[in-house]
Amino acid sequence: MIRNSIIVLSILLVVLAGGMWIASFGSRITAHSSRVGDFQYLVYFESGHCYLEKSNIWVCSFWWPASWYWENRGLAGAMIKFPLWAPFLMFCIPPAVAFVQGPLRRYRRRNRNQCIQCGYSLTGNTSGICPECGMQA
Ligand SMILES: [Zn+2]
Repeated sequence: MIRNSIIVLSILLVVLAGGMWIASFGSRITAHSSRVGDFQYLVYFESGHCYLEKSNIWVCSFWWPASWYWENRGLAGAMIKFPLWAPFLMFCIPPAVAFVQGPLRRYRRRNRNQCIQCGYSLTGNTSGICPECGMQA
């Protein structure tokens, strides 16, 4: 149950991250913008990257050349920058594992002469029906 929830949630996040990744190449998408004192807090997506920025409004903005970047400039502000393909790939892992796991388990059970449904050993079984779960072998 929890496993399925993780897979469903991951698929949603894959779609979300992938969509943001593609959409960010068009124009800047601002997810959050607020001002506290002299600092502007921003979360935005641009050119395939996610930016978490805290910048002093009295200081001109920075240029961040690297794809992966983290820097705290104290009074000038701070920035975290990462490419959006990173969360996209990360959220791909649980669905990909689930996709491979089922066939792999069936293949392994078939080779060990176990019931495909429940894994019960069918060695010496002549009826062709699993005594554990009733599955037709
Ligand atoms: Zn069985």
